[in-house]
Amino acid sequence: MLKLIHASKIYHESGVCALHDVNLTVRYGDYVSITGASGSGKSTLMHILGLLDTLTEGTYLLGGTDVSHLPPQALARLRSERIGFVFQRFQLLPGMTALENVALPLALKGLPHAVRLGRAAEALGAVGLSDRMMHKPGQLSGGQQQRVAIARAIVAKPSVVLADEPTAGLDPAAAADILTLLDGLHRAGNTIVLITHDRGAAARAGRRMELENGVLHGGESF
Ligand code: ADP
Ligand code: MG
Repeated sequence: MLKLIHASKIYHESGVCALHDVNLTVRYGDYVSITGASGSGKSTLMHILGLLDTLTEGTYLLGGTDVSHLPPQALARLRSERIGFVFQRFQLLPGMTALENVALPLALKGLPHAVRLGRAAEALGAVGLSDRMMHKPGQLSGGQQQRVAIARAIVAKPSVVLADEPTAGLDPAAAADILTLLDGLHRAGNTIVLITHDRGAAARAGRRMELENGVLHGGESF
């Protein structure tokens, strides 16, 4: 479903080769973790997989379609249909309620307002926050904010959820909750790519890979 073939990314401004000849396959229903030290290319890989950035060399197939050379508008449309993001710093809009934040990805879909809010409420229910829908991010704990972000990532029923160090800023209990939530999403049939530098977190995934200076090791299945 996601496939990188001889994929490289060089940041021309700095000359840094952030990904070097990466080959990666993620199938429907997979739960894949990618670990690596700071600066090893994890966020770069996430941005490539999430269509936020493009490769310097190589091919990216998404659902069998070559998306390596699509123009920005086409990438943005595919991104909104196929990708759910969870970031380390939540990236919720502070002036909006949890419900409004979660409904945002549906804004492009031309659905009636009430339907969007209904789906957002359902997604918040799935992350255990039915009783916090009208709270704004500043009124929620870090762990709760990340759960809102996960609800936002799944509300449009994307093909894949990409999580970039989603537990990094959280206390251990909240981090464990987020990992349990990701386990549940995987069991419910979602495809998940978890990027982390926490080996304990990575061990929850069915397949583990490691980035080292832009080189991807692994793809081990068990
Ligand atoms: P990680 O997420 O594993 O910490 P990154 O993917 O953020 O790693 O970075 C990988 C390498 O690419 C680092 O050496 C970083 O300095 C460099 N890099 C990341 N983003 C940019 C950018 N926009 N421009 C230039 N260099 C970058
Ligand atoms: Mg990073």
